[in-house]
Amino acid sequence: MQDKPVALVTGANKGIGLQIARDLVAQGFIVLVGSRNLEHGETAAKSIGADARALQLDVTNQSSIAAAAEHIRKEFGRLDVLVNNAAVSHAGKPGRSLEEIAKSGRLSVVTLDEVRAVFETNVFGAIAVTQAMLPLLRDAPAGRVVNVSSAGGSLTLNSDPKNPHRLMFGTYSSSKTALNAITLAFASALESTGIKVNAACPGFTATDLNNFQGTRTVQEAAREPVRLALLDANGPTGTFSNEDGEIPW
Ligand code: NAP
Repeated sequence: MQDKPVALVTGANKGIGLQIARDLVAQGFIVLVGSRNLEHGETAAKSIGADARALQLDVTNQSSIAAAAEHIRKEFGRLDVLVNNAAVSHAGKPGRSLEEIAKSGRLSVVTLDEVRAVFETNVFGAIAVTQAMLPLLRDAPAGRVVNVSSAGGSLTLNSDPKNPHRLMFGTYSSSKTALNAITLAFASALESTGIKVNAACPGFTATDLNNFQGTRTVQEAAREPVRLALLDANGPTGTFSNEDGEIPW
C-alpha cells in the first residue's frame, strides 16, 4: 500500500482541476490526474512532477470508471480524496462566448439531448465516479469528497429578482444545482462513516469552460476545493462554500 495519501481529481488535464492536482501534490499527496484523453493527462501530470500520475477516466463511461477504480486499488491500494471536478458548460459548438452559451442553454430553447449530455457529465458522472471509489474511500483514514460546483447553481441566489445573473440560470447552472443536491445526499448517506462530502465554488475563473472570460486565476479558484480536500476530523460535511464562507443552497 502507498504510504502517501492518494487523491483523484477528475478532469485534471487542464483548468482548475490541473491546479487542484498541483496543489494537492504540494500538500504531500500522490495525485491521479484524471483525463478522458490519456495523452493530455500524461502531459499535465509531467508538468506537475513525479507525484502526479495520469489516469484515463471518462466520467460518462462506466467501463472507464470501473477500470480506473481497479487500477487505483492494484497500483496504490488506497484512495483518500476524490475531487469531482470534470464538467462541461454546454454540448454545442466550441469556442462560443459565455453569453452565447448561456442563451442557447436556456430551458426554453435548449434541446433535451443537450440537457442530457450536460447532466451526464456534471451530475451522473459525479455520482458514478463517487460510487465506484466509495469502497476505497471507506477504507481511508480520512476519506474526503469535494464536488466542484458553482454559485450559479444556487436556487436561493437565482430566485432573487435583484440578482442580475439569474438570467444565466439554465442548463449548466441547473446541473450544478443537481450536483449540490447529490453532495447533500452523499453527505447524509455517509454521515456515519467519517467520509466528508462538500461542494466548493471556485468563482468565475478564466478557463476553456467560459472561453477564458472568467476574472479569477486558477490558483485562486483551486483554494476552496483544496481546503475542503484537507479538512480534519472536526471539519464539516454537507456544505456548499467558496473562499468567503458558506453559499446559500
Ligand atoms: P475546463 O478548463 O473546461 O476543464 C474541464 C475539465 O473537465 C477538462 O479537463 C475536461 O476534459 C474535463 N471533462 C469534461 N468532460 C469530461 C468527461 N466526460 N470525463 C472526464 N473529464 C471530462 O473548465 P474549468 O473551469 O477548469 O472547470 C472545472 C470545474 O470548475 C467544473 O466543475 C466547472 O463547472 C467548475 N466551475 C468553473 C467556473 C469557472 O468560472 N471556470 C466557475 C464555477 C465552477 P477535456 O480536456 O478532455 O475536455
